[in-house]
Amino acid sequence: MVSEMNKEQYNGFNDLYYLPETDSTNSWAKANLDRFGPVGAVYTTNQTAGRGRLGRSWTNAAGQALYYTVVLRTPLAQPSTLPLFASLAVADVLKERYGVDCQIKWPNDLLLNGKKIAGILCEGLPEQNTILCGIGINLAQPQSCFDAAELPHASSLALQGADVNLESDPGWLARTLTDFGFDRDLYAFERLGFEACRERYRERCINLGRHVHYDGGEGTAADVDAEGRLVVQDDSGISRVFTGEVSVRGIYGAL
Ligand code: ATP
Repeated sequence: MVSEMNKEQYNGFNDLYYLPETDSTNSWAKANLDRFGPVGAVYTTNQTAGRGRLGRSWTNAAGQALYYTVVLRTPLAQPSTLPLFASLAVADVLKERYGVDCQIKWPNDLLLNGKKIAGILCEGLPEQNTILCGIGINLAQPQSCFDAAELPHASSLALQGADVNLESDPGWLARTLTDFGFDRDLYAFERLGFEACRERYRERCINLGRHVHYDGGEGTAADVDAEGRLVVQDDSGISRVFTGEVSVRGIYGAL
């Protein structure tokens, strides 16, 4: 339920909406598609029914985290790799604001010091020629929040030493993502797909060279291919794991 809605006033190129509270920024974007141009976004710091991949949920922490959805109504050469591109966009904005170097757990979880601090859920709406990319970033939850939610592998930027300002950072991060990560940086990705950012992605991908388990097998993560698939090597050869189908395990325990 949206109690109040503000369209952000700033000198950016794209529409950006702020909601004091909402059930899910992806759901709000879906119900309000007609408000958006080619690129736009919505954010809140209080998301009461957040969703994750594979039907999971994303834990809320009112006022202590950023919940953000970018709405892309522009044709993408390789939409299936958007989650990977998006994880890099988030890594870049966190580097700029906090000076931190996140690693990416394939396909799109962001880790800091081995703990998950951000998650991403992309949803395609083919009939509307639209893709939604929902991003949750843990800004300043205390450890008790993750203990209560039984998330031993999760953490927040503040817990990992970042200097978080809960007044200004949610808006700054949302604006920067909307005008740079999903605007300026999107130009090359729109045309070239994953090729535009594959090298940078591989540098941040924590899985490479490590043992991974996935539904259907296990082995050493050898590469991320041009389609954004995780290339896993085992004794019998190579398997290519698609995004969206599986959850890769074996990373948190290894750190
Ligand atoms: P994983 O590989 O970590 O299980 P995933 O990529 O398959 O994650 P996501 O869509 O990123 O799944 O997120 C859902 C999962 O993330 C939940 O099942 C839960 O384990 C974890 N989670 C939920 N809320 C948070 C949060 N605020 N911070 C970190 N992790 C969370």
